Amino acid sequence: MSDRAPQTWECPTCGDRLNFEILDDERFLVAWSCVLCGPIRTTEPV
Ligand SMILES: [Zn+2]
Repeated sequence: MSDRAPQTWECPTCGDRLNFEILDDERFLVAWSCVLCGPIRTTEPV
C-alpha cells in the first residue's frame, strides 16, 4: 500500500504523462492513455 508504481505514469513510447480513467472502482481497474499515442494499458489487481 505504501509503495509507488515507478513507471506507471509515463508513456512507454513518448515519455509523456499518462491520463487515467477509473473503469471499476471496486476492482481498481484503471485504463491508462497517452494524449499522443492513445490507449496504453489497463491495470488490474494482482
Ligand atoms: Zn505517448
